[in-house]
Amino acid sequence: MHLGDLTVYADGRFARYDDAKVGLLTHGLQYGTGCFEGVRGFWNARDEELYLLQLADHYDRLAQSARILLMDLPHTTAELCDLTVELCARNNLRSDAYVRPFAYKAGEDIGVRLHGVPTAFAMVAIPFERYFDAQRGLKVGVSSWRRIDDTMAPARGKITGTYVNSALAKSEAVMNGFDEAIMLSAEGHVCEGSAENVFMVRRGVLYTPDPSQNILEGVTRRAIITLAKNELGLDVVERPIDRSELVVADELFITGSAAGIQWIESVDYRPVGNGERGPIAGALIELYDRAIRGGMPQYASWLTPTYGVRRAAAAS
Ligand code: PMP
Repeated sequence: MHLGDLTVYADGRFARYDDAKVGLLTHGLQYGTGCFEGVRGFWNARDEELYLLQLADHYDRLAQSARILLMDLPHTTAELCDLTVELCARNNLRSDAYVRPFAYKAGEDIGVRLHGVPTAFAMVAIPFERYFDAQRGLKVGVSSWRRIDDTMAPARGKITGTYVNSALAKSEAVMNGFDEAIMLSAEGHVCEGSAENVFMVRRGVLYTPDPSQNILEGVTRRAIITLAKNELGLDVVERPIDRSELVVADELFITGSAAGIQWIESVDYRPVGNGERGPIAGALIELYDRAIRGGMPQYASWLTPTYGVRRAAAAS
């Protein structure tokens, strides 16, 4: 795919990717003062439909990130949902897709701050397949980099500059032969992956760090908690998780919009459980895959159809 041919949304209008430029001194680029989302779209060939997943949840979170950064978003959640559908349709996306909406401080002067800098908003949508190989479990390593603390830069916001923390951990992990990192919080509790939330199964109960543990409150995390409770009848407990619990866990998996739900085979070279995909992770992987492609009517509210909405509008 040639990026230059894409239609993007920037500065309040649709434009060619190559024509949408950012100035060199832009605050968001120099100081990391931006926030973003990663939204997935899943192609359903039978329905000839691109289902956009949990759009409103993503845009509500973008609004929270913007609030943390003293930004006024130029659009409401409802407007952003409509714009996303429009952008995907204009690009005629007919495969799995990834949408990257982002807002950034657009001033072009020197002086790090949040106040008194104008905000710009843009959105790019691209075809996107898999983030990880779905056929095998992940080898993860506990990172020597700790997760940023809420008192330093809040992980609750999906803030551009804080992804240096994720990038340090991810590259360290990959350079050490792992697929992904798990970061601990400054206090030493299990926090999250570079771009994923962490789940653990012990004696049939599903655990995940609660929102006070310096995690990003993941949209996929919420969906998985719902599926685990509603479809599998599991107890789901949100609480701090110790590092040593990763070693004794029966199952571990991570969740994220890009990653989906991915089971973990080993942590720091130690197999998790018997080193194979566990029954709870397996069941949730299958349920999630069905739900996101429109195969579970009870979760239809998670999905925004790209083409159906437009076909209906054209017919009326
Ligand atoms: N944690 C971090 C640091 C992330 O970047 C992501 C990806 N957005 C997640 C967790 C998972 O969040 P979500 O399920 O909303 O994509």
